[in-house]
Amino acid sequence: MEQSPNKIEQASMAHTIARSMREGTTPAPLGEKAVVCDTHGEYISAGTRYLGTREIWTRCPDCTEIMRAEELQAEANKKAAEAKATMERLLDQASIPQRFIGRSFDNFVATTTEQQNALQVSRAYVEAFQDHYKRGTGLILSGMPGTGKSHLAAAILQGIMPRHCGLYTTCMGIIRSIRGTWRKDSEHSETDVLRAYAGTPLLVIDEIGVQYGTDGEQTILFDVLDRRYRDQMPTILLTNQAKAGFKQFIGDRSFDRLIETSRWVAFDWPSYRATARKEAA
Ligand SMILES: [Zn+2]
Repeated sequence: MEQSPNKIEQASMAHTIARSMREGTTPAPLGEKAVVCDTHGEYISAGTRYLGTREIWTRCPDCTEIMRAEELQAEANKKAAEAKATMERLLDQASIPQRFIGRSFDNFVATTTEQQNALQVSRAYVEAFQDHYKRGTGLILSGMPGTGKSHLAAAILQGIMPRHCGLYTTCMGIIRSIRGTWRKDSEHSETDVLRAYAGTPLLVIDEIGVQYGTDGEQTILFDVLDRRYRDQMPTILLTNQAKAGFKQFIGDRSFDRLIETSRWVAFDWPSYRATARKEAA
C-alpha cells in the first residue's frame, strides 16, 4: 500500500519537532488562525515555529481523527488477516478430515439430555484445556458410527486453536505411518514419527477398535499411548466399542491408565445419519 501524503507530512513534522527538542531550541508560538477544511469547514489552527524557520500549523481535527481511525482499522485488518492465516495453517496441519472442518459446538444437534451432556463435556474440555494440557487428561468418546463423536472431536480441536495445536488421526493412520518408516527409502525414522505423535499437544485418535489388528499393530498404538501417558499429554480417543469391547481391544494395562486419565463419554443414541435418512424418506 502506498503511503498517503498525510502520513509523509506527519512523519516530516514529527522529525522537525524531534530535532528541535534534540537541539534544545525553543519553539515560538505563532498564534491561531481560522482555516477552512474542504470537507469539514472552518477550524482553528495553532501555529508554532521550530528551529527558527520551520512553521507547523495544526491540521483539521476531524481529518486527523479520520486518519487515525483509518490507521487503526488497517492495523486491525492486518492482525485479523494474520490470525486467519495462522488458523488456516493450524487447521491444515491438524489433518482434520475435510467433512468435519467447520463442525462446531454451535452446529451440533443436541436434543436429548445425553447429547446435551456430550456437548457440555466437550465445550468444558476446550474451556479448561490449559489445565488438561498440564495434567494430560483426555476423553474417550464411545458410540456407534454416526453419533457425532468425530463432530465433537473436530470441534474440540478447532476450539483449542490457535492457542494450541493438535492432530486428528485414526488408529490405522498411526499404524500406516509407522509401517511406512520400515521401508528402506523412508525419509523419517520410526522414532521421528513416534516422537511427532507423542509431542502433539492434543492428539485425537479415531476408529479405535474398528478392527482387530495384528499384535504388531496393537504394539504400535500402545507405544504411542504409552509415550503420551508418560509425558502427560492429553489424548482424545474415539471408539465404536462399549467399555468391555474397548478394554479387550486396548488391553488391561492401557485400559487402566486411560480410565485413570480420561473421562468416558457414552454416545448412546442412534446414528444421526440413520435419523436423517428416515426424515428424508
Ligand atoms: Zn477536515
